[in-house]
Amino acid sequence: MRMRERVVVLGPPGAGKGTQCKLLSAARGLLHLSTGDLLRAEVATASTLGEQVKAVLNRGDLVSDDLVLAIVRNRLSMHQEGWLLDGFPRNSSQAAMLDDLLADLGQPLQVALQLQVPEEELVARLLSRGRSDDSEAVVRKRLQIYGQQTEPINAHYQGRGLLKCVDGLGSIEEVATRICNSLEEHQHSQETIC
Ligand code: AMP
Repeated sequence: MRMRERVVVLGPPGAGKGTQCKLLSAARGLLHLSTGDLLRAEVATASTLGEQVKAVLNRGDLVSDDLVLAIVRNRLSMHQEGWLLDGFPRNSSQAAMLDDLLADLGQPLQVALQLQVPEEELVARLLSRGRSDDSEAVVRKRLQIYGQQTEPINAHYQGRGLLKCVDGLGSIEEVATRICNSLEEHQHSQETIC
């Protein structure tokens, strides 16, 4: 039987992480844990915390590491099977926090999948999506934060032989097929090493 995968999905805003995670989680019976979706759900409750989160999201900034880590810890500790993390980690301190959390939970990461899409395509995709945090100024800010804070964590996973890069251009189905092939290839190479 196939092992239930534990995967971090990386890539800039607009790369298709959410779309691909939904497909992959359904196809492989994995938990899809999107920190952006969970934060938006908190905003929708109009709680005091939700109001604070809303202000951060609408500026295009990141919410605090501690808040996001609490969300992820809570979900992963209840879920011992495979999972996909979408939107977390988003900076090097979150990557280190995730390493510690997974060591605590005894759930080592198997692969970090990086979806690659050129910047002009990202801006076009994000502006056509129409989410409330997708105005042009906010989109540019989110891409800038991605380049400064999130992209550097690729090296964190590359150094551990866990990074797999996948071309995110093309139809949803084409990208989904590439992702599946890449995961199979990675799993096979790990089995060969073991
Ligand atoms: P996303 O849906 O992943 O594009 O996330 C939408 C927004 O939620 C981001 O622009 C951030 O403001 C916030 N967010 C999501 N994940 C994180 C995270 N891991 N750390 C901090 N902020 C986050």
